[in-house]
Amino acid sequence: TSIFDAATYILPDAIFALTEEYHKDRYPKKVNLGQGTYRDAFGNPWVLPSVQTGREKLASQGLNHEYLPILGHEKFRLEATKLALGDQLFASLRDQVAVCQSVSGTGALHLAGLLLRRGCKERPTVIIPTPTWSNHRQVFSSLGFDCHPFSYYDEAKKRIDWECYLDTLKRARSGSVVILHACAHNPTGFDPTREKWIEIGCVVKNRGLFPLFDAAYLGFNSGSIDDDAFSIRHFTALGIEVGVCLSFAKNMGLYGERVGCLFIVSQNVAIARNVQSVLEMLQRSEISNPPAYGSKIVATILEDEALRRMWYEDLRTMSLRIKSMRQALYEHLIQAGAPGLWEHLIQQTGMFGFLGLPLETVNRLKERHHIYMASNSRISIAGLNPNNVQYVAESIAKCLK
Ligand code: PLP
Repeated sequence: TSIFDAATYILPDAIFALTEEYHKDRYPKKVNLGQGTYRDAFGNPWVLPSVQTGREKLASQGLNHEYLPILGHEKFRLEATKLALGDQLFASLRDQVAVCQSVSGTGALHLAGLLLRRGCKERPTVIIPTPTWSNHRQVFSSLGFDCHPFSYYDEAKKRIDWECYLDTLKRARSGSVVILHACAHNPTGFDPTREKWIEIGCVVKNRGLFPLFDAAYLGFNSGSIDDDAFSIRHFTALGIEVGVCLSFAKNMGLYGERVGCLFIVSQNVAIARNVQSVLEMLQRSEISNPPAYGSKIVATILEDEALRRMWYEDLRTMSLRIKSMRQALYEHLIQAGAPGLWEHLIQQTGMFGFLGLPLETVNRLKERHHIYMASNSRISIAGLNPNNVQYVAESIAKCLK
């Protein structure tokens, strides 16, 4: 017998396994549309010019490798929260905010789970859209939460399933947690309009739900932080308690540096103080203190007006390249005579395209054409470039005919 008798084999994470499969593939025209990582027009990883300059500035100041405080880099925590809330809201609510640096967006969600487990009288249900980012359910169910999925997307109509969405929230038990993608819903690419966010906000407030925003794409989606943070700022302005899980993986290209934070806008100063102290204890027991380098880069950029402007430009570069590839794929699919309607592709937003292909076609694309994508036919648009977009469209057309 082993002490690990209950540790039965768990299949590897699908998207990481797909990336490995892609790397092993020797075919020269192979295309990776799996993992959501930005690529430049030549298919290479992109170090943002603002990040490059921030790194040089940091290096010139002489970088040491001391521990950060348990809650993380002081200026990073401040600037990151201010970025998401905007100057005005932040100024009026700063004493009600508890904030803790995290191991990127995933770590922020996990920390939110730990906080909810510890800080709520009764363990809340976590309401999760379906489909959603593949890790949401796992993060919360592994912490012992009861996860309640609801249909977010109407496959046939290729739009948000409003009836189910609003109905689910209206029937939810008060105190339930609802996971909201702040922008760039992964994988569908369909976000609520501002009017719809206002409607959702009303239901969340009236039902007494706790909105937990997963904000992994702020600024990356539209090229503008203000536009992408609308949902977060609107809900916060309603005067309800809000949680935000922020990641700088995509919008600063700091994927492997693992930099993010969790902040909670609470009812009053006393609650914020308590919550922050709980976060500090949870952080100490889990990772002691967070990784330093990425947070130093982010703080350097956000504190420096010129670097911040450079970053805004980088955000526009990334989001415009993705938009142009989305359009190009759409046009090439039409030109190649790919059966079916493709308008949904250009109605979607963010990093991903949700093609709506059957699994059989997804597999055929991999086997015959060396094109890799998630099994639900979500593609990372950033993997497309002028050299491969026609090949991808024509291959999709061939596999569907
Ligand atoms: N949330 C969503 C919706 C994502 O798509 C991702 C990454 O793909 C994350 C969170 C977490 O990313 P990270 O932990 O790298 O910040």
